[in-house]
Amino acid sequence: MSDAFVFAPPAPPSVAVAGSSARFPVRRIFCVGRNYAEHAREMGNDPDREPPFFFTKPADSLVEDGAELPFPVATEDLHHEAELVVAIGRGGQDITREDALSHVWGYAPGNDLTRRDLQAEAKAARRPWDMAKGFDASALCGALRPVAEVGHPAAGRITAHVGGELRQSGDLAEQIWPVADVIAHLSRLVALAPGDLIFTGTPAGVGPIKPGQSCRVEIEGLGAAEVRYQGG
Ligand code: MN
Repeated sequence: MSDAFVFAPPAPPSVAVAGSSARFPVRRIFCVGRNYAEHAREMGNDPDREPPFFFTKPADSLVEDGAELPFPVATEDLHHEAELVVAIGRGGQDITREDALSHVWGYAPGNDLTRRDLQAEAKAARRPWDMAKGFDASALCGALRPVAEVGHPAAGRITAHVGGELRQSGDLAEQIWPVADVIAHLSRLVALAPGDLIFTGTPAGVGPIKPGQSCRVEIEGLGAAEVRYQGG
């Protein structure tokens, strides 16, 4: 057979759907940088001067709620970033702000896990962020909740706890670029497709997770996503 794969292709990455045995197949993972003013400031940037910018993680870097993982390699400064995750159900290019939310399938709490030391090195050397952001098991995404159930959450508390201690506390209403703007901007750069996830940025208070610690991200009305690291 000339059209056979040379080895069996892996199953597509996917995310659980809350209250259902069905799963959401994931195509790509996009992430927004600096979408909350206080976080932009804590990273040494001016939140008022920038349009949203994007980076990506491999789809197979997905991690599910409740995962217990070995501590990531090549870092001594693993950081949590609590984020609202948007799941795209209908694709499109040059999507207008007004039409943008009709492309959303659902929402979940997520954690844009970051090797902050590698990111700092990359920034200093003007190199890409891929190895700081797109490492194995770097995209924690909790169970998705469909729009039909939760609507489009424009406000709501978003928190991260590490080892039970509150580290991040913000509100979705503080996003510099709300979900509709994020979708509109991103769809001018790539054609969005069903299965794309967008991590929409993190509020202030990012910080380290150590070996042996757990990190729990929670968003009002959307549940939680937790990961635990071995060791310590
Ligand atoms: Mn982030």
